This record gives sequence, C-alpha cells and structure tokens, in this order.
Amino acid sequence: MLSEADAEQVLIRLRQAINGVVWATPKFDPDAHNICFINLEMRDGRELIYYSFSNMSRVSSTRQAALTGLGYELVPDVSNHLKFWACGGMGQYHTEPRLVNYVFCRPGHLENIRRALIVTEIDCCGSCMNNTISPFVEQYPDIDIYTQEHGAVPSQGISPSFQHFTV
Ligand SMILES: [Zn+2]
Repeated sequence: MLSEADAEQVLIRLRQAINGVVWATPKFDPDAHNICFINLEMRDGRELIYYSFSNMSRVSSTRQAALTGLGYELVPDVSNHLKFWACGGMGQYHTEPRLVNYVFCRPGHLENIRRALIVTEIDCCGSCMNNTISPFVEQYPDIDIYTQEHGAVPSQGISPSFQHFTV
C-alpha cells in the first residue's frame, strides 16, 4: 500500500495530468471538481490503483484517451442497476462512490482485496460516508479501508493541503 507521501505525490500528479488535458475555460474550472483514487492491496500481492474525476461530462473520449496515455485511465460510472454503494441523488456521481462501485463490480476483485486506501482532494462528504464508505466497511469487515483526505474546499478557494509536498 502506498505511504502517505507516495499517495500525496500520486494525487498531485493526477491533478497535473487532468488539468493538462481538461483545461480551464471562463465557464469551467477543473480545480472545482474533485479528484480521487483508490489503492488496492490484493491478497495475491498485487497493488492496483484506480482513478476518478468528479465531472466526467467534461472529459471527452479523446481527452480520456490522452489521460490513459499518461497512465491515468479514469474509471467510468457504472450503470444504475450496478450502483450498490451510492445514494440516489447527485452524490452518486462523486468520485468515491464511482470508485467503490467500479471496484465492487470488477470480477475477481472484491474477494481478493486485503486493504484499500481512498485518497481524495476534497474530504469525503456526509453523503458518501453514509451511503458508500460506512456501509461498505460494515459489510466487508475483512477488508481494511483507510481514507486520506486533503481538505480542499473549492467553493471557498481552499486548495488541497499536503504534509510532504508544496504545490
Ligand atoms: Zn461525496
């Protein structure tokens, strides 16, 4: 599993990659939309990382391909009937439920996860805690789940803060 410092570096690089591909316009600020990733430590020793951006409607297939080329393939939204871990409102499109639902639906994943680390710029909101993370933790006590949150509040102009790096 990634150390706190390594996870910070991955998050910073993910932000740079996304903002390099999905640039700001007068009507769209990519920094206002959360980025998040999940690091899975599997029982067979594999380490997997899946990446999520909260506003996929701004990421065209061309831009997605560009990000995949940089090593950051963004997970898609799973279809509605597979959204086991999400609220019914807009919160279902937040980065955390998208990642948890995606991992949950990947064949061979769920039964093979030892530990999971969710790393996010904006702290997990109440809806994601109540509808996604807490019920998942309760349902799967054999999986150790950790969160690393970086305190960004885009509506107040507060950027994510890091312990190990200055951005
Ligand atoms: Zn949320």
